[in-house]
Amino acid sequence: MCVGRNYVAHARELGNELPDKPLIFLKPPSSVVADGAPIILPPDSAQVEHEGEIAVVIGRRTRQVSEADALGFVAGYAPLNDVTARDLQRADNQWTRAKGFDTFCPIGATVPAAGIDWRTLEVVCRVNGQERQRGRADQMAFGIPHLVSYISHIMTLEEGDVIATGTPEGVGPLRAGDVVEVELIAGERLGCVRNPVTDH
Ligand code: MG
Repeated sequence: MCVGRNYVAHARELGNELPDKPLIFLKPPSSVVADGAPIILPPDSAQVEHEGEIAVVIGRRTRQVSEADALGFVAGYAPLNDVTARDLQRADNQWTRAKGFDTFCPIGATVPAAGIDWRTLEVVCRVNGQERQRGRADQMAFGIPHLVSYISHIMTLEEGDVIATGTPEGVGPLRAGDVVEVELIAGERLGCVRNPVTDH
């Protein structure tokens, strides 16, 4: 499950306003790859972009939970790259194609949520070692407890399900030969997912 337009500066950089309620969409499980696996650029797109995000990993079945109870259903956090074919996103009314190609969802190892204040989580995205994006969870339009509660009133979440919580400003292109990394920080470095980019 993914959340769109959850940081005001990113919404504006693509010419959008913040939505009144969380804007949610799905990426297919077949888009998921691990640290080190290549992101494969599909021939259908001429503009594939990185979106570094904080991912929430669900710990147990979550259905219609309140915002106050929501964090009790979170197992941990992980760095995630919501790779997006921006040209196809603009062309389509919904984003399944733009967001759903194989290899378009690199996810790093899960860091246990215990002892982490979600508001202090920070995500950094670098391309070829150069910082392109940085955002903190306390800048989100809809915070993590709200997102978990909101989504759980639409659909049941299962253990291992992942919520990508939206990307901060600074999205930009990925080209063959690039190496893109998304790092998760909470005071200290918690984890990183780093992937080379290759042509189809
Ligand atoms: Mg995204």
